[in-house]
Amino acid sequence: MVLSDLGRKLNAALSSLNRVSVVDEKVLDALLKEVCAALLESDVNVKLVSQLRQKVRIKVKAAFENSGEKSREANRKNVVQKAIFDELVNLVDPGIDPYKPKKGYTNVIMAVGLQGNGKTTTCTKLAVHYQKRGFKSSIVCADTFRAGAFDQTRQSATKAKVAYFGSYTETDPVAIAAQGVAKFKKEKFEVIIVDTSGRHKQESELFEEMKQIGSAVKPDMTVLVLDASIGQAAEAQSRAFKESADFGAIIVTKMDGHAKGGGAISAVAATKTPIIFLGTGEHLTDLDRFAPQPFISKLLGLGDVQGLMEHMQDLATQNPDRQKEMAKKLEEGKLSIRDWREQIQNVMNLGPLSKITSMIPGLPQDLLQGSDEEGALRMKRMIYITDSMSSTELDSDGSLFMEFGKDGKPVGLTWRVSRVARGSGTTVREVEELLCQYRMMANMAKQAGGKNGWLQAMQKIQ
Ligand code: GDP
Repeated sequence: MVLSDLGRKLNAALSSLNRVSVVDEKVLDALLKEVCAALLESDVNVKLVSQLRQKVRIKVKAAFENSGEKSREANRKNVVQKAIFDELVNLVDPGIDPYKPKKGYTNVIMAVGLQGNGKTTTCTKLAVHYQKRGFKSSIVCADTFRAGAFDQTRQSATKAKVAYFGSYTETDPVAIAAQGVAKFKKEKFEVIIVDTSGRHKQESELFEEMKQIGSAVKPDMTVLVLDASIGQAAEAQSRAFKESADFGAIIVTKMDGHAKGGGAISAVAATKTPIIFLGTGEHLTDLDRFAPQPFISKLLGLGDVQGLMEHMQDLATQNPDRQKEMAKKLEEGKLSIRDWREQIQNVMNLGPLSKITSMIPGLPQDLLQGSDEEGALRMKRMIYITDSMSSTELDSDGSLFMEFGKDGKPVGLTWRVSRVARGSGTTVREVEELLCQYRMMANMAKQAGGKNGWLQAMQKIQ
């Protein structure tokens, strides 16, 4: 997962609230100190961090005063956690919705950015993303400056089975862009991605060329591709481009392995431009959709039900009816153990594991640790456990495994747990853990659909 270090630190800070009995100013100060230190380490601008600290303080103070003496301690913890969550979302939220490609229409997307930022790679990733969602997609390589740019596009587009256009002989990028877009428009492509050059002898020439290509192809959206490793310097780069080319959205690449990514994301948000995707690796599928709230939710280990549903829609082409049913159940919080197992199996097919698991609420954090192979092994053990359950057990909500007292509260485990453990060659503890994770997932999925769902979810996970 991207920024996993930052996520771990923020999570640890928020969890520390559960260990104190009284939430007073001293506790809030210590918590904010930890949160702010984690953000600064991720290269978030000092000014933005100090604004976050102040806003949280103001919100918490107002909420405490309003609720008066009667406010229970648990409630005060919620207030603090919610204030921090909301301000983290604000930190990465530019407050503007990006352009959304429309079906049955030719959406022209122009990619700009400095050479080496990952523009060409991202163009193919984008085409793959839209193609998977049913858009007839294509790429036009208008980078005539860099030798080999067209070859790179040709190779990756062929691999991804995406249509492409370019030329080995034409040297005018504006002419190539116009020809390519005209050709694909005629052929009724729904997404046309125009890759532009990223290096010129002078910056002014680069900006001039971008303008000319822009007027030739009239993009519905211009996307600036930025490298996460520049951290908060992303703000200056984004402003420089903004003055010359009016772009509508940003993609931050190389989020994998760059601890400074938090700085890049918050700096971009400060320029009031929406980030639409994060590049998270060199493979064609290493592109994560970005939206402020799900991003923070995932960062804090609370899952991303919305993102998960999108992945499930990707699978819909294989078994549309079943996937639709699953998405509905997930939304309504009605997943049985059998459904959950199917979901885990789907996740294993979707790979790479580390990307997908962070979307599933309730999956244990240690599943994300270690290599993908280790994670896959842990998931396989979960599957073995469910393989030893009977049909009735699989279709249940897990309560069959619990013994309940007269007051309806669980008091222990039934004989079924040790039977499943024996059958699957695992331990009672492992079966118990799986049931606990399933329950957590079912609760969280249900709550994530409702207002303030994350809040209860957060309490459940700690
Ligand atoms: P361009 O010059 O902007 O078109 O950049 P390229 O698309 O040629 O990419 C430059 C390098 O960055 C290549 O080695 C890519 O594989 C790599 N790259 C692009 N995006 C990512 C990403 O999200 N993560 C990682 N780790 N590498 C990336």
